[in-house]
Amino acid sequence: MSGAVLLPELTPENTAFWTGGAHGALMIVHCDACDYAIHPPELICPKCLSRKVSPRAARGSGTIHSFTVNHQRWLPDLNVPYTLVVVDLDGEPGVRLTARLDDTDPTAVTIGQRVEIGFVQAEDVWIPYFRRSGA
Ligand SMILES: [Zn+2]
Repeated sequence: MSGAVLLPELTPENTAFWTGGAHGALMIVHCDACDYAIHPPELICPKCLSRKVSPRAARGSGTIHSFTVNHQRWLPDLNVPYTLVVVDLDGEPGVRLTARLDDTDPTAVTIGQRVEIGFVQAEDVWIPYFRRSGA
């Protein structure tokens, strides 16, 4: 266990999200009662308080809602500058996922661009990232 790397701690509510990448799937928790998409994942629906929630595979594509270019190297193997994007996920109304954009040229990123999900494994979790569609 390397104390220098910040990895998410697996919990009952977030395990599906952080391990879905093993199968190439972006798992978003939905309420079985009212169909509300719950992200970040929780064990109780914040909308109707149902405890019947279950993860479902999202399409894994989306549109860049906003982005920031970061110059701080907060992981040892992180190339700077890097881009964090906030993505409106296809088929998941109201769900925005923030992740790194796998792209070497931050100046080429614009709001509204289409992106697709990818994963990189780090110990027992699969970290989602986005890459531009067709790039
Ligand atoms: Zn609900």
